[in-house]
Amino acid sequence: MNLFEYSAGELHKKLLAKECSAVEITESVLERIDACEEKVGAYLTVTGEQAKAAAAKVDAKIAAGEEIHPLAGIPMGIKDNICTKGVTTTCASKMLYNFVPPYNATVMDKLEGVDAVMIGKLNMDEFAMGSSCENSHFKLTHNPRALDRVPGGSSGGSAAAVAAGEAVVTLGSDTGGSIRQPAACCGIIGLKPTYGSVSRYGLVAFASSLDQIGPMGRTVEDVANLYSIICGRDPMDATSARREYPDFAAQISGDVQGMRIGLPKEYFGPGVEEGVRAAVMDSIHTLERKGAKVVELSLPSTDYALSAYYIISSAEASSNLARFDGVKYGYRAEGYTSLTDMYERTRSEGFGDEVKRRIMLGTFVLSSGYYDAYYNRAKLLQKTIAEEFTAAFEQCDIIATPTTPTTAFRLGENVGDPLKMYASDICTVTVNIAGLPAISLPCGMVDGLPAGLQLIGPRFSEGRLFNVSRVLEQERGGLCAVAAL
Ligand code: GLN
Repeated sequence: MNLFEYSAGELHKKLLAKECSAVEITESVLERIDACEEKVGAYLTVTGEQAKAAAAKVDAKIAAGEEIHPLAGIPMGIKDNICTKGVTTTCASKMLYNFVPPYNATVMDKLEGVDAVMIGKLNMDEFAMGSSCENSHFKLTHNPRALDRVPGGSSGGSAAAVAAGEAVVTLGSDTGGSIRQPAACCGIIGLKPTYGSVSRYGLVAFASSLDQIGPMGRTVEDVANLYSIICGRDPMDATSARREYPDFAAQISGDVQGMRIGLPKEYFGPGVEEGVRAAVMDSIHTLERKGAKVVELSLPSTDYALSAYYIISSAEASSNLARFDGVKYGYRAEGYTSLTDMYERTRSEGFGDEVKRRIMLGTFVLSSGYYDAYYNRAKLLQKTIAEEFTAAFEQCDIIATPTTPTTAFRLGENVGDPLKMYASDICTVTVNIAGLPAISLPCGMVDGLPAGLQLIGPRFSEGRLFNVSRVLEQERGGLCAVAAL
């Protein structure tokens, strides 16, 4: 096996046993990027020299006999909506094509604190709006498991890089499914953490009440380790929860004896592809064999979730994106005749179609006369959806659903049909609406394409999600393999 194919956990052991150096690990991943980036297109920026310098620091620590963190020297990719000091952060938008943040997101400071090695910035849908990565202003990303397919979105670059071996782990962001849906499409693991557990400071805001940064990787342990680093209270983010978090990876027991798994019937309806449903049920049967019990459930407001999500998220986006006006940072149009003309031209030229669609929708649902009819009703639905989950978690410990109703679609297949594109989030948006944690795990192949299982837990139950995930991972044979490219 090449170094880029190992999990972070295995690489850490190799570093401790001096079987390889951190610089060699980084070089292996950089060579992999050179070899397959032309086919995959996961990266917007590769920071090779910086990465090698960071890795050399880890080697010096090892040589000096210092203790190193399990993520020290591990090459990771970062979604391009997370601010990285001195490294361009574009949100895959023309609007921010030249934006170099003068500061780090809190998660980046935390990663630097444990000597993780940032290898580059990853492609995404513009401002994280999309489900296929096709809304990037800069490039297309291909699914490494089937190059004619989308990698999912919006964290498509983050998922594709992990699946291709172009990063050992990555960070994505999830507002309505953007970590879990691409993880499912690319056959890897992705966690959307409990709202408030990971600081949003330095994450370029899409819908602030729904956005969370989260980890993606090829083993449950890697995802748990990365989550343990990035979670925690941050005084720079007023929505960050005041609580202590355990070392999640150390607590994984892999025991599901007596656990109650809820299956909500609304998530297994006719819109779900038969092969995906069968793959998900296979995993449920595995858990039953390991001592878990299945509980049938109903979450009746699920049918309204997509409408509520697109109203709330667009309303917040229309407000958040008002700051991109050609004055403060990024793109400014040329040839304007007045201040208003400058704003208008800059925003018309700087934003792509999907972003404009969301800004218009959001402005509409917030306008007087429509606020009560749309925005307020969506907020009421949000409350109902959250209450239904709370009631469900009295009957079960964890809820299992497909992550996506279908496997990855073909590039270009849904670009002309926004409603069809939105429908691929049907299983994931409720989780953000209710502020819950959820993980997506590969659960088998359907016609040669990966299917994803989603496990949803009550707030702050990430430890439980990792436990159940471990049982399924062991059954599947451990590490998700890197795609052959
Ligand atoms: N696909 C959803 C959207 O377009 C979710 C995006 C996300 O989670 N960032 O809004």
